[in-house]
Amino acid sequence: MNTNADILFFDKDCPLDAVVSLAEPRDVRGLNGAFLSILKEHIPHRAVRVYEIVNDFYTASAQIDSDGQILKEILNTQENNSAVKLEFNEPDVQQCITEKLPITGQSSNSGLERTIFPILGLPKPLGLLVIEGKVDDSCKNFLDPLLRIYASHAFILNKNEHDSLTGLFNRHVMETKLNQIYHSQEKGKRKSDVQEQTWCIGLLDIDHFKMINDQHGHLFGDEVLIIFSRLLQRSFRDDDMLFRYGGEEFLVALRNVDLDKAQMTLNRFRESVEIATFSKIKQVTVSIGFAALDTTVSLQTIIEHADRALYYSKYQGRNQTNCYEQLLQRGLVEDNGVMNDNIKIFPQQKNIN
Ligand code: GH3
Ligand code: MG
Ligand code: MG
Repeated sequence: MNTNADILFFDKDCPLDAVVSLAEPRDVRGLNGAFLSILKEHIPHRAVRVYEIVNDFYTASAQIDSDGQILKEILNTQENNSAVKLEFNEPDVQQCITEKLPITGQSSNSGLERTIFPILGLPKPLGLLVIEGKVDDSCKNFLDPLLRIYASHAFILNKNEHDSLTGLFNRHVMETKLNQIYHSQEKGKRKSDVQEQTWCIGLLDIDHFKMINDQHGHLFGDEVLIIFSRLLQRSFRDDDMLFRYGGEEFLVALRNVDLDKAQMTLNRFRESVEIATFSKIKQVTVSIGFAALDTTVSLQTIIEHADRALYYSKYQGRNQTNCYEQLLQRGLVEDNGVMNDNIKIFPQQKNIN
């Protein structure tokens, strides 16, 4: 690969080992790590970013079922390069998405030149790759096989990791991601120089969901699950992680929060469900329990703690948020999962009708 002042060009074809390294990873995180290494190795002197095109659940004015889209940055070879910072509505971005071809244009913010490549999916592009400056055909030929294999592998891996109804991470991926968080937190604790992040784990269970299915049909129940998931995506930060735990149960991993902040965030979500419109149904409510991600106990125990707090919310009349540590402190649950009125709490037996 060579560069001159203006145009990026490659004096070789895309090497096979780069293509192979994109085919090997078994999860999206691994795939993105491999792609970043390739970009840094082969395009070392230019800033490159990769964006995913995602649905915009965050715009305050957007309807819950809005299909508005935004760009989410997923890879970045250099920080602070404003030429390669993209906004969805910039003219060259729109042209690239519409024409599905590489476009050399200018950043409407900095005026700097950049070339945008579509990462093609069907029927619309899945994402965009942007390189600072102009490129020639050799660069397009070099990137074309990489972008094609990246797109098709990302599509398959994303499908494996997400629940097909709600689009949230599925249960399988939840275990991997929670283990990653747990172990990185454990490691952080051992190294005093690493700033510790505190996480909380919330369990959310839609109230009387069986009744919704029984009264309005299973298809309508599915619609409620979709609307509920979109509310989740709009309510939590990008840094938090959202999973469909099973049926009408969801797990939220909240990053960098203490118990008070977690209570506030989860309860605000509970209130937003309470006032949301779910088509035919007057009101849907959710019960929530949460616990701190405390690495002195196992991950399974932390989830059981959140589950006990959720059970307490159900037991106390539903549509509320409770924190395991606070219930414990107030003597309302005991460490062994017994409530002070001696009602045993088992996660699989928590329906009270
Ligand atoms: P509680 O307030 O105690 O949580 O009561 P509930 O009715 O919400 O809980 P229960 O566990 O009795 O019922 C959950 C129902 O969710 C039963 C199951 O058929 C339904 N369900 C699970 N997965 C799906 C799904 O993907 N779509 C639909 N429509 N229903 C589902
Ligand atoms: Mg349930
Ligand atoms: Mg329920």
